[in-house]
Amino acid sequence: MTPRTVLKFGGTSMGDERSWRSVMEIIARYERPWVVVSATARTTRKLHAAAEAAVADQPGAFSIAEKIESRHQDLVGALMESLGDSAKGDGEMCRSDCEIIIDDLMRTLADHIDRIHEAGQLNPARRDAVAAIGEQLSSRLFARCAPAAGLNTRWVDAGRIIRTDSGYGSAAPDTAAIRSAVESVVQELPEDVIPVMGGYYGTGPEGELTTLGFEGSDYSASLVGASLPCRAVEIWTDVSGVYTCDPRIVENARPIPALSFREATELAWFGAKVLHPSTLKPASTQDIPVLVKNIFRPDDPGTRISRQSTGDGLVKAMAGKENSALLAVTSSSTVMGYDFLSSVFSALREHRLPVDIVTTTEASVSVALDYHPVLDELVTELNGLGEAKLSTGLAVIGLVGCEPSRQNELLVRIREALEEIPVETLSYSRTKRNLNLVIPSGRCREAMRLLHRSLLEEGSPRSG
Ligand code: ADP
Ligand code: MG
Repeated sequence: MTPRTVLKFGGTSMGDERSWRSVMEIIARYERPWVVVSATARTTRKLHAAAEAAVADQPGAFSIAEKIESRHQDLVGALMESLGDSAKGDGEMCRSDCEIIIDDLMRTLADHIDRIHEAGQLNPARRDAVAAIGEQLSSRLFARCAPAAGLNTRWVDAGRIIRTDSGYGSAAPDTAAIRSAVESVVQELPEDVIPVMGGYYGTGPEGELTTLGFEGSDYSASLVGASLPCRAVEIWTDVSGVYTCDPRIVENARPIPALSFREATELAWFGAKVLHPSTLKPASTQDIPVLVKNIFRPDDPGTRISRQSTGDGLVKAMAGKENSALLAVTSSSTVMGYDFLSSVFSALREHRLPVDIVTTTEASVSVALDYHPVLDELVTELNGLGEAKLSTGLAVIGLVGCEPSRQNELLVRIREALEEIPVETLSYSRTKRNLNLVIPSGRCREAMRLLHRSLLEEGSPRSG
């Protein structure tokens, strides 16, 4: 089988008629691509809002649905207009096919709205089925319109490919089932056909729709890449790669040419929104490089994420996330036995709460994690084991690609930079390549700017 390149285009790339044309031009540069698209910008959010509104305000839900409908109609209209002659007379036919696609999915949405309203509540399965409509719309429309720009595209239903468990909202993929589904699609389609698939959604064991969680389209792309002979998985977005820090927070952030799978995962986990945190796992298992590229500047090199890690600065990048909490449990005996630790972690597991940082002393353990209301119940539960305390309103900042031999220098610089900001905890990973800080949430952005200036900007000692 000839290797393919998986190209994933995010919400901004699918935002309007102009970016759809840029996406088509980019696809045309590739030999045998497999295309994964997100919903058009902000559509998923609107769908969630419609599903929520449907419970008590059915007209409100329908009015959101109408906005989604007209937005897609306008997009197709503008696209056909701008493709003009190159649409080769297919323009009218394409418009009417797109009208059918939009009608079909809008009927599905209306049906969900009615059922949610009748039930008087929104269950997780229904929420996912509604959310999936964004990618169903964008992928079906894109696959139908791209031939007008000379691309031999065909729609592939992600429901057929991305098989998952029934963990609605952030379902876990069944990689073996995905692999055989991808293989059968590859066998069915002529080699010169470009499959176009929606990201983010899949189907659970009963054939019901599920989603892979916020930003899940990146994950879909990587899952497909790992199921094919694949040259690379390319994540096309609105910035030229993974930056040293979120460019929306730190003006002087700049793209990083290369990152290891581990570094990129760590960054995504600690809040670098440019990638879904699970994206790198399937690709790294198969050793497939992941590239992050800019649709508005396609010739920029972007970031290459692979097994290798390069660079020997003080730190490579940082990310931060607000709305974290610190859960501290002190054992009632002076020494923390293994029963104590396992009970704390079993409780976290039971509530499906992923942990960001763990620190321990001889009689207590603290974990930093995303705040979730269930934590308030958990504290009461854990109070049986010892003394449990929950601190909220915190942020976690992760520094990745730290140079272990320059640990002392790094700690001094951090202390200087954050002189005015109280640091709740500071911890190193075992390899000394990652360092995490917990600070008050309200100071997160300020702390990131200060740290970036001191550790990653011109005049900082990063190059030693
Ligand atoms: P898409 O719709 O293509 O999936 P996203 O909005 O999910 O795009 O991701 C791109 C955005 O991620 C950028 O516009 C940027 O604001 C944000 N971002 C956060 N951290 C980083 C980072 N370290 N590097 C690059 N972009 C980042
Ligand atoms: Mg994204």
